[in-house]
Amino acid sequence: MRSPMNPPFASRPGRWPLPPFMQASAALHAGAALAALAVPGAWPWALGAVALNHVAITAVGLTPRSDWLGTNVTRLPAAAAARGEVALTIDDGPEPGVTPQVLDLLDAAGQRATFFCIAERAQAHPALAREIVARGHSIQNHTAVHRHNFSVLGPRGYAAEIARAQQMLSAITGQRPTCFRAPAGLRNPFLAPVLHRLGLQLVSWTRRGFDTRERDPEVVLARLTRGLAAGDILLLHDGNAARTAQGEPVVLAVLPGLLARLNAQGLRSVTLPQALRDDRPAPAGLPTPPAHR
Ligand SMILES: [Zn+2]
Repeated sequence: MRSPMNPPFASRPGRWPLPPFMQASAALHAGAALAALAVPGAWPWALGAVALNHVAITAVGLTPRSDWLGTNVTRLPAAAAARGEVALTIDDGPEPGVTPQVLDLLDAAGQRATFFCIAERAQAHPALAREIVARGHSIQNHTAVHRHNFSVLGPRGYAAEIARAQQMLSAITGQRPTCFRAPAGLRNPFLAPVLHRLGLQLVSWTRRGFDTRERDPEVVLARLTRGLAAGDILLLHDGNAARTAQGEPVVLAVLPGLLARLNAQGLRSVTLPQALRDDRPAPAGLPTPPAHR
């Protein structure tokens, strides 16, 4: 679901702009309250309308690629696609038994990736987290502990979980994350204002392989490469990886084929901050740098 009035990559200074879907929901609540007060016997209908609206809001929050609750990057911007760029994103690590081999495979193919790390895991393996960055990749915010009830947290829960991860990851890598991914992509309307305040952009994906559940690497590879094109954001996992029948983490079985496919199509995987750089507002007082070709 992508609402035409709510483009990603817009500059976001000042107040958080309420998305059109949430404006309509607020108007519906106000209208229902007025009707219940003004029209005798109307309150069951008003209550029903509000309840239906909450069902719709919940459904949208459980749709990872929707942007109805706020901006959500599901593809790289046109400028990045024109450069032949894609973004490999690898979630839920760092994982000592998996991530070092992921780094070796990426190095051998000359490709870069974005690691959406769970901050407490990065803190448990700080040398590995620093190695990810030292080898040219990017670490971004995937919450402090990857809570399974993330989609039902309130504003304080979101602020605590995400700000703590920002602090931990910044302290470990020396780089402040600018992108955020929700656990399993699930969230509610309280998330977007918190991300806005922390200067974070919600990023989901173009396609994913479900590699935390699917044990057959061929199936995962097929899901990731069906229609593969410049501008795609692909999701894999180094943490919580499913295992193949031979006991190998699925990501390690999938990456060689996926990297070969990128190479064959002439696609270059870059980090998200690099791919999104043209669409970020220039710092105040500085001219916008020319786009690199
Ligand atoms: Zn995750």
